Amino acid sequence: MSEQLEHTGQPRRVVVAGAGMAGVQTAVALREQGFTGAVTVIGAEPHQPYDRPPLSKAVLLGKAEDSAFDVDFAELDVELRLGVEVTGLRAADHEVDTEAGPVPYDVLVLATGAYPLTLPGSEGVPGVHLLRTLDDAARLRPVLEQRHTLVVVGAGWIGAEFATAARQAGCAVTVVEAAGRPLAGALPAEVAEPMAAWYAESGADLLTGARVERLAPGEVVLADGRKLPADAVVVGIGARPATGWLASSGIALGPDGSVTADDRLRTSLPDVYAVGDCASFPSARYGERLLVHHWDNALQGPRTVAAGIVGEAPAPYDPVPYFWSEQFGRFVQYAGHHAHADTLLWRGAPGDPAWSVLWLRGDVPVALLAVGRPRDLAQGRRLIEAGSVVDPGRAADPAVPLKAAVR
Ligand SMILES: Cc1cc2nc3c(=O)[nH]c(=O)nc-3n(C[C@H](O)[C@H](O)[C@H](O)COP(=O)(O)OP(=O)(O)OC[C@H]3O[C@@H](n4cnc5c(N)ncnc54)[C@H](O)[C@@H]3O)c2cc1C
Repeated sequence: MSEQLEHTGQPRRVVVAGAGMAGVQTAVALREQGFTGAVTVIGAEPHQPYDRPPLSKAVLLGKAEDSAFDVDFAELDVELRLGVEVTGLRAADHEVDTEAGPVPYDVLVLATGAYPLTLPGSEGVPGVHLLRTLDDAARLRPVLEQRHTLVVVGAGWIGAEFATAARQAGCAVTVVEAAGRPLAGALPAEVAEPMAAWYAESGADLLTGARVERLAPGEVVLADGRKLPADAVVVGIGARPATGWLASSGIALGPDGSVTADDRLRTSLPDVYAVGDCASFPSARYGERLLVHHWDNALQGPRTVAAGIVGEAPAPYDPVPYFWSEQFGRFVQYAGHHAHADTLLWRGAPGDPAWSVLWLRGDVPVALLAVGRPRDLAQGRRLIEAGSVVDPGRAADPAVPLKAAVR
């Protein structure tokens, strides 16, 4: 890249593919860190770049019109090319291809996020929705307003948040989950099973162990033959990195479809970084490669990317992952990353209005789930970050602040 460097030692032109949280934050972080070259952000969606979490909350309920980022791109001297899909990467030429022609780069940042999985055979069936984009939310808003009878497929984070909003809007809601409990992929049975009660409490029917056989206009047919009436169906069964367009680029991808970045978020191709929902990274903290599909990762990762681009030799990217979810009137927060073998410790009981669960490896906290206990989350996150050793007896006492359980 040396011939493309200015006398400052910085590249002249950074191109960012993807105008979501990670792409926009990359542009912002570049300017914050003193990058003076050209920055172009290319996004497939036509809308002004926006934040996704409100889509399943305020935007869905019509309490907010949109969730555009409060970023002045002109002021930052960042060029936005919206409604333009990036279709390919030719690393040898330092160019990406777009529908509007090739775009040269000195440094490229991949931030194309993730796309939602669909149910096979559901394409083109009227009344079947996903919830990933502003357009999806705009299509769903009148469905909620009309108080339709809805079936939600998948009791994960998105399914739970959508069901919450739909119940609030007065819709009849049935949630169909193939696993035996909500959030089966994310939380152990002991923690997730009590959450099933939240659905019932809100007036939503949760059917677990229920597989969808097919979606037909006006109904959902389950594998056991049951037929559920549905004016509309919302499918929330997970997301995969949006990296299909990189297939012939020669870039290293993982089995999960993520761009396998290193601990500075550099990819296997020279001068190409990857960040946000589309990228996985090796975590020394957790001893495994992580693919994180949460907002905080799309905020933090760009700072590492920008530091690398401006030549700051950043510290390895090894965050304590964090996310929140607002469901059934509860504020649910999770920090860290737990494994099956970690010891689970309750602070409070699942029937309580607020409780937390801490995962310990040895006596060191590695993850924490807090329901309505934001102070536990804040303190636990710091303990996890610091690798502090705690007294398990005190840490299990909800009356003892977590930070006071440190040994
Ligand atoms: C409905 C919803 C609610 C959420 N709520 C929460 C929450 O409460 N808490 C939390 O922690 N996280 C939440 N998340 C997750 C969080 O929003 C994501 O982790 C975050 O948006 C990831 O940012 P990103 O920029 O990596 O990807 P994205 O937000 O997916 O942005 C990627 C962008 O790239 C564009 N793109 C894709 N392919 C191309 C291409 N080939 N060319 C050009 N552009 C392309 C896409 O159109 C998209 O705009 C939620 C997600 C959704 C969908």
